[in-house]
Amino acid sequence: MADFDDDWREEEPVAVQAPPVHSYEFRSNTFRGRFRGNRGRNSGNWREHGGQHSNKRRDDSRFEENNTSVITVSSAKVGRIIGKGGSKIRDLEFESTAKIKIGESDGQETQITLSGTNEAISRASDMINDLVKEEYGRSRQSTNQETDKFSQSNDDRKRFMTTNADGVEVIDWDKLNAFHDQHQNERWSQLPPIVKEFYIEDPEVAAMSPTDVKKWRRANHDIQVKRTFDDKPGLRPIPNPVLTFEQAFQHYPEILEEIRKQDFEQPSPIQSQAWPILLRGDDMIGIAQTGTGKTLAFLLPALIHIDGQPIPREEREGPTVLILAPTRELALQIEKEVSKYQYKGIKSVCLYGGGDRREQIKIVTKGVDIVIATPGRLNDLVMARHLNIINFSYIVLDEADRMLDMGFEPQIRKSLFDVRPDRQTVMTSATWPTGVRRLAESYMKDPIQVNVGSLDLAAVHTVSQKIMFVEEDDKEAVLFDFLFNMEPNDKVIVFCGKKAMATHIYTELCLKGIECQALHGDRDQSDREAALEDMVVGNVNILIATDVASRGIDIKDLTHVVNLDFPRHIEEYVHRIGRTGRAGKTGIALSFVSRNDWAHARELINILEEANQEVPEELEKMAERFEAMKLKREREGGGRGRGSRGRRDRW
Ligand code: AMP
Repeated sequence: MADFDDDWREEEPVAVQAPPVHSYEFRSNTFRGRFRGNRGRNSGNWREHGGQHSNKRRDDSRFEENNTSVITVSSAKVGRIIGKGGSKIRDLEFESTAKIKIGESDGQETQITLSGTNEAISRASDMINDLVKEEYGRSRQSTNQETDKFSQSNDDRKRFMTTNADGVEVIDWDKLNAFHDQHQNERWSQLPPIVKEFYIEDPEVAAMSPTDVKKWRRANHDIQVKRTFDDKPGLRPIPNPVLTFEQAFQHYPEILEEIRKQDFEQPSPIQSQAWPILLRGDDMIGIAQTGTGKTLAFLLPALIHIDGQPIPREEREGPTVLILAPTRELALQIEKEVSKYQYKGIKSVCLYGGGDRREQIKIVTKGVDIVIATPGRLNDLVMARHLNIINFSYIVLDEADRMLDMGFEPQIRKSLFDVRPDRQTVMTSATWPTGVRRLAESYMKDPIQVNVGSLDLAAVHTVSQKIMFVEEDDKEAVLFDFLFNMEPNDKVIVFCGKKAMATHIYTELCLKGIECQALHGDRDQSDREAALEDMVVGNVNILIATDVASRGIDIKDLTHVVNLDFPRHIEEYVHRIGRTGRAGKTGIALSFVSRNDWAHARELINILEEANQEVPEELEKMAERFEAMKLKREREGGGRGRGSRGRRDRW
C-alpha cells in the first residue's frame, strides 16, 4: 500500500525540538537571513547588520579571525536558535558571519560559543538575543523594562484563564479566540486597501444577448457558469464571455503584446469566461483539467492585479500573488508558464520541497511579486520568517482536489490563516468533491464557478481508449513487444502501479539497449526534472512513470499512454490518459486489464461509453462477474475484511 502511494507529498514542517544539548554544529549550508518585509524594507533588516558580507559564500576564510565569546540563553529557547533541521542557526551564521556552537546545558541554561571577528560575534549575539527575547523578554542581559514586559505578559496570560466546574484553572478559549480575532483585525485594518476592479467591458461583449451567451457556452465544451453558493441579492450578474484577446485586454496593450508572441488563435473557453470574472475582482472556482488553458486564465489577471495596487511594488511588505500547487512538477510547470509573460518587471519565485532552499530564500528575500509554492515549503519558509504573507491579495489554489487528496488541507489552512481576508481568491479543481466545496466555503467570497466539460469524470474525448486483457505474468512481455514496435515519432508514458515496478521496467529496457527515462518518487528532484525535460525535448521517447506523472504534466507531442497497471482510482485513469490527446492532437491510451482489476470494470465502462469508445464484451462480463460476486457476498453476510480486488477464483 505504502509503495503504491507514489506521490510527491511534502513533509509537514516538523516542530522544532531542542536536542539534548551536546556540541551541535552546522557548517554545511548557508542561508540568507530573516525576512521581515520585502525588497528595500526587508533588505534593511539584515544588510544593516552584514551588508558587506551578504554575498559572501561560506568558506573557511569566514572564521579566520578566531575570537570567541560565550553567551548564555535559557535551554528552553535553544530550539529557536537551531530552527527546523538547523535552518535557523545556518541563517544566523550566514547573516552574522560568526560561527555558532551550541554547548552544554546545566538543565536551565545553555552556553553558546560564538567565534569569528569581533564584529561578527557582536552581530550574532544581537541576533540571538533578539530571537530569545522576542516572546520571552528574558535573556541574561534583560533590562528592568524587559522584565516588566515579561511580568505583564504573565498577567496577559492570566486574562485568558478561567476556573472550571472542578475548580481547575483552564484556558478560556472563547476569550482567547476573541482576543486573537481582534488582534488580527487590527493588523489587517492597517493594511492598504486592495484594488480589484480592472475590467472595462467591450461594447460588443456587453451587447451579447442571453441567447448569444447560451449558444456560445454550449458550443464551447458546454461550459457552465453559475454562482457556487447562494445568488444573494446585490451580487452583480455573471459577466458575458470575451471572444477575443482584445476584448479582455485592450486596455493593457503590453499584455496583448505578450499574448501575441505566443501565437494563440483565440482564448480557450475557460479563459473567455474567467478573464471578465477575475478582472472585475470576483472570486472564481474553475472546474477544469490541465490542458484547458487554466493557468493563463488566472495568471494574466494576476499580473494586472499586481501592477494595479495603490502601493508601489518596491514599498509593499511581502509579495502580492500566491499560487499554491500540489506537486513540485505542477509548481515548476506554472513557473515556466509565468516566465513566458513579461509584464512591468514582475518577478516570481517557485518554492518547493527538494529544490534549493537557500536559493529560494535568496530570491524571496530580494523581493518578488508572485510566489508559486507547494504547501509544505511555503509553510516552512513562513514559519522560518523568510516570507511575509500578510499582503497576499490574490491567491490561487491550483488543483485543489489533488491538494486535498494528498492530505494538504491542514497546511493550506495554516497558509491562509494569516492572509488578509479581503483578498481575491481563485481555485481550480478537476473534480468537485465535498472537501473542495468545504474549502471554497471557508476561503472564498461569493465565488462564481466555471465548469469546463462535465463535472463528473470528463473523459478526454480526443483520446482513443483501447483495452487489452492480459494475465499479470504476461504484462511485461506484451509491453516490451509494444515498445519494440513503436514508430519513430511515437512518444509514450508507461504508468506502473509501484515505484519498484517502474524501476524494474526501466532497468530491463536499459539492459535491452532501449533509451528511456523514469519518473517516480524514489528519484531525487533533479533526476525527475531531467527525466521530464528529456521527454519534452525528445532526447527519449519512452517515460516509465508512476502516478506522480498522471496529472499536470504537459508533454505536447505525447502519442500514447500505456497503463501497465490499472490505477487504483478511476479518477487517476482519466488523469493518466489526459496526458495525451492535448493541444488539438489525438492520442491513444492502451490499458492492460487483468483479472485483478475487475472491481474497476463498471467505472471504466462508464467512461468508455461517455467518450463514445468501444466497450469490449470481456469488460462487460468482468463487471457482471464482479457485481454477482458482490451480491453473493452480501447475501452471505460477508463482504467484510477481504477486499474485492484479487478474488481470482471468481474470474
Ligand atoms: P494549462 O491548462 O494551463 O496547463 O495549459 C496548457 C497549455 O495550453 C499550455 O502550454 C499553454 O501555453 C497553452 N495555452 C494556454 N492558453 C492557450 C490558448 N488560448 N490557445 C492555445 N494554447 C493555449
